[in-house]
Amino acid sequence: MLKVENLSVNYGGIQALRGISLDVPVGRIVTLIGANGAGKSSTLRAIAGLVRNKSGSVTWKEKHLLGLNPEHVLERGIALCPEGRRIFPHLTVLENLKLGGYSCKNREEEDAGIERAFSLFPRLRERSWQKGGTLSGGEQQMLAVGRALMSDPELIMFDEPSMGLAPILVEEVFDIIERINKEGKTVLLVEQNAFAALKIADYAYVLEVGEITLQGPGEELLRDPRVVSAYLGG
Ligand code: ATP
Repeated sequence: MLKVENLSVNYGGIQALRGISLDVPVGRIVTLIGANGAGKSSTLRAIAGLVRNKSGSVTWKEKHLLGLNPEHVLERGIALCPEGRRIFPHLTVLENLKLGGYSCKNREEEDAGIERAFSLFPRLRERSWQKGGTLSGGEQQMLAVGRALMSDPELIMFDEPSMGLAPILVEEVFDIIERINKEGKTVLLVEQNAFAALKIADYAYVLEVGEITLQGPGEELLRDPRVVSAYLGG
């Protein structure tokens, strides 16, 4: 499993995370919900090796990750699908996917990654020569997911995958996450859409100003009055 223990993150005096601990068992979907600025992105970015000032311990299958650079975290089988999708608007769909495959060891691995993305999202195959910036929001999210899957990670972390999407596409994104999980990937999902995230999560944590304040199985938190009033609109 992914084991995060006593993780703290500091941005030049701003303490974004205050010693949080969480577990993501292999094969499960675990979600981290919380308001804007609670520290959700910081958690994922710290695990991915993208944050410098951090302390505590992060292990994946009992091997230490904290202190590794992002390339080495990816080599250990952990990928991040970042907030805001971060696709390259002037590069084609295919070129964007290839960038996600920079850790692929050879051409075969890269081709397999591209094929994986295209079979998951046939629309990307149809648009493989189209520039990323000309895709719709939903298609850009598919591209971001396809790109994160290029390295065939064991664990994939999603940062607010539903952000800015129309309701029908939000549903599609959560279906895709469930499908990716059923196909064998462990998932750590960060979301502001608490309802949709809790519905698909095996286990969930609530983050408030840098601290975990509540945790439990997804369905249990969906019924928890504290979660209902704070995150599910009463
Ligand atoms: P959001 O949904 O807005 O992304 P979040 O729960 O993901 O919120 P973080 O982005 O992790 O929260 O931010 C946690 C805290 O750290 C916030 O107070 C934020 O302003 C601060 N913060 C985040 N990144 C930086 C940075 N690079 N430099 C300084 N402060 C930062």
